[in-house]
Amino acid sequence: MRPYILAETNWEALKDANFELAILPWGATEAHNYHLPYATDNIQADHLAAESARLAYEKGGKVIVLPTIPFGVNTGQSDIYLDINLNPSTQLAMLSDIVAVLNRQGIYKLLIFNGHGGNNFKPIIRELGLRFPKMFISFCFFPQAFDKTAYFEEKGDHADEMETSLMLYIRPDLVLAKEKWGDGKAKKFKIKAFSEGWVWAERKWSQISEDTGVGNPHKSSGAKGELFFKDITVKMGNMIFELCQADLNDLYE
Ligand SMILES: [Zn+2]
Repeated sequence: MRPYILAETNWEALKDANFELAILPWGATEAHNYHLPYATDNIQADHLAAESARLAYEKGGKVIVLPTIPFGVNTGQSDIYLDINLNPSTQLAMLSDIVAVLNRQGIYKLLIFNGHGGNNFKPIIRELGLRFPKMFISFCFFPQAFDKTAYFEEKGDHADEMETSLMLYIRPDLVLAKEKWGDGKAKKFKIKAFSEGWVWAERKWSQISEDTGVGNPHKSSGAKGELFFKDITVKMGNMIFELCQADLNDLYE
């Protein structure tokens, strides 16, 4: 039983507890190339959040990890079999109920630990911030914590070398044999401004990738995944500890 994981702890341990920070991992259920499980984003968020929280907890951070939300925004993948879409408005409704509980019970810090690129919490956090002025709500997206090119050779953002390497480290039992891996070849918008990143539109996933992957996974390895996992969780653990200690009335310098 890990005392910083809500799903594993109990009323005996929590009846007199007073946490500073709640962490809410948020993933997605979606195809990940041919070879990774639909729960890839959930598994990654689960393991990364738990290990990061452990490091903060062991330093004295009063942190509790809530159960991972398994569905995310998959509006661009409506025709990919059993990709389960949660609309952004549904995410807002769910988050506002969760935040209401934390606010009522005096846990004023929330970190959303995002594991899925289609989830966009910025506008939701802005709106909830107005409704719950005592709450300090933040989110992180772990692939952005480091320059990925220092760890992985191939670029990508879905079932790519990073995700395959992480899964080979965390849950190798759920990764299909290498001969089943698709090459994650993805088409780009013909209009240059979109691939340069200064104009955005949602990609119609089934039209850009045949195997659903974006990014070649073939140079993936468990060793690369392990190195990335360890560096991410140390960095996240430090950030989580700092968040626990932070005085919400004295955030700026
Ligand atoms: Zn993913």
